[in-house]
Amino acid sequence: MSRYAPSLARLIGELVRLPGIGPKSAQRLTFHLLKASKEEVFALAQAIIELKERARSCAVCYNISEDDTCHICADPTRDGSLLCVVEETNDLWAVEKTGSFKGRYHVLGGSLSPLDGRGPDQLTGKRLMERLEPEGVKEVILATNPNVEGEATAMYLSRLLKPLAVRVTRIARGLPVGGDLEYADEVTLSKALEGRRDF
Ligand code: ZN
Repeated sequence: MSRYAPSLARLIGELVRLPGIGPKSAQRLTFHLLKASKEEVFALAQAIIELKERARSCAVCYNISEDDTCHICADPTRDGSLLCVVEETNDLWAVEKTGSFKGRYHVLGGSLSPLDGRGPDQLTGKRLMERLEPEGVKEVILATNPNVEGEATAMYLSRLLKPLAVRVTRIARGLPVGGDLEYADEVTLSKALEGRRDF
């Protein structure tokens, strides 16, 4: 990349680190920004800065929020007895998009993956256990992704939950195996939630 002016090379170098952006796309985006108006480019830069300055984790469920508590946890009409456990905020949004779930959520912050060095301490599972009694949770729906790490994570959580007086269910199969909740269509995901079984 040394054939570029240093400022171009720097931006290409930053963009190429983003998921789904290869060297060619990084180059294309950089040249696009070079040609765009100053206002447009500054608005993009400002949006990125604001994201980092304002967005944080909900103190209750770890959803992304600009307040201490996210809009779902703050909503008194949501059913607090039903808790849907997902890996990432993207998965929470996928379930929300189905419009069929009226309970609350818990975002784990990932899945167990010993190969990538992700163990129980990297997840928010302990905080999940602490929520159950005070919030009067009666059912925990394990909606981790239908892949090896997601299944291992569901298994781990079910072992933690077993001794507690709470029903533990797993979303139904039928979701594409190895896939991500985030990529499932709304009807399939809605059905997977509806058809959940005791775990
Ligand atoms: Zn929340």
